[in-house]
Amino acid sequence: MVVLKFGGTSVGSAKNIKKVVEIITNTPQKKVVVLSAVSGTTNTLMQIFKAIEQNKEQESVALTSNLKVSYLSLIDELFRTNRYRKKASVFINKEFNFLLQQLKKAANLLLENTILAQGEILSTNLVQLYLEERCVSTRLISALDFMEVGTDNEPNALKIKENILPIINQNNDEKIFITQGFICKKNNGDISNLKRGGSDYTASLIGAAIGAREIQIWTDINGMHNNDPRFVENTFSIEEISFDEAAELAYFGAKILHPQSLIPAKENNIPVLLKNTFNPLSKGTIIKNKTAHKGFTAVAAKDGITVLKIKSYRMLMAYGFLKKVFEVFEKNQTSIDMITTSEVAVSLTIDNNLKINKIISELQQYGKVEVDYNLTIVCVAGDFSENKEGTTTKVFNALKNIPIRMVSYGGSNYNISLLVKNSDKITALKALNEGLFEEKNLLLEATW
Ligand code: ADP
Ligand code: ASP
Ligand code: MG
Repeated sequence: MVVLKFGGTSVGSAKNIKKVVEIITNTPQKKVVVLSAVSGTTNTLMQIFKAIEQNKEQESVALTSNLKVSYLSLIDELFRTNRYRKKASVFINKEFNFLLQQLKKAANLLLENTILAQGEILSTNLVQLYLEERCVSTRLISALDFMEVGTDNEPNALKIKENILPIINQNNDEKIFITQGFICKKNNGDISNLKRGGSDYTASLIGAAIGAREIQIWTDINGMHNNDPRFVENTFSIEEISFDEAAELAYFGAKILHPQSLIPAKENNIPVLLKNTFNPLSKGTIIKNKTAHKGFTAVAAKDGITVLKIKSYRMLMAYGFLKKVFEVFEKNQTSIDMITTSEVAVSLTIDNNLKINKIISELQQYGKVEVDYNLTIVCVAGDFSENKEGTTTKVFNALKNIPIRMVSYGGSNYNISLLVKNSDKITALKALNEGLFEEKNLLLEATW
């Protein structure tokens, strides 16, 4: 079996859904199709929830009815027959009535995750109905029946496997299963989700659970690029990349993949293929365990970073100091991204300021604490296992005009991380594009 995941833009309009359906029906293998919400829907559902939280009832109702209108016009364009248009509009009315009912609940009883789940429920039902209209047999399976997370919201891989396999086996003759990305259930029955962009993670978790031969992530670009195409011109698509490098890029800001999405695929050695729904003939990017490529592969950037520096002369020659510092972060459930140390100070970065005040006050018992906000980690990913001379020189040369706050190299063979001011991010990404990939760029220009 294979898993095919389609993102928000891919199911973003009637025209695009038709392209998605072509890809599904042209894929001969038995498959699980994972769908995101129609692009923009999750954002609108978040706005609806925020409006209710702020007692702006009229605003929430207006947003809901505008969203409904957009779905009614989508089904008008998508379906060929009045019979199916009618079926789809009955479904849309039912789901939007449910949403309006939810909004009438007292703000303290209103559940954000129940509202957010509607996006994927809408898209999967509409695509399933469209396939039915085209006489393609499919089975819609609810992610809420098998995507289980613990109280910490971490997916329970074993439970997911135990839940989904019987569903698939009971429908042994079915060739196409359709399900929702992103949404899941806690073991206490509450609806939850895998955080923004989480449909990629769903696809990888399902792939691992069913022992898929391949996980395909269909999006709006020809695979993983060597740099962030939202900020840098002349980026190019990478044909092959290892799990380790791609995981670093996803974690450090390459939006094409959810940060955790490669873990289940890597652990189960299932190749992940990134493909473009709007250019299916383009090769895309294959992510697998080993690649022949050495040296620089790509650059990504992650915003919203805070750095904490703890300075203490007690650290000098003392053991156990770092342990105490790490315990503060562990206690406050905040993970650390980058670390650098000197004899008398340690600097650490975090990407989540939820517990920052508590962390600062607890760290103050060990030394003087300085905090800087609004920084960006720039991640240079590649295979640096050969430890070739000149690697870091190239990076620092490229960034010679940009002040670098922190550097991390050698933690893994696949990543050089640099901390810069957020205002220097785009300049840094562009400079690295010129400095590290110049030859490839010249080659690309010559072939145009
Ligand atoms: P989907 O809705 O299909 O999940 P996303 O918007 O989440 O799509 O991810 C695709 C987008 O990721 C691209 O359109 C591109 O702008 C952005 N992106 C950021 N970094 C990269 C990168 N290194 N390679 C490819 N795309 C990237
Ligand atoms: N619909 C969700 C989001 O917009 C999940 C996803 O698209 O992967 O974040
Ligand atoms: Mg995405």
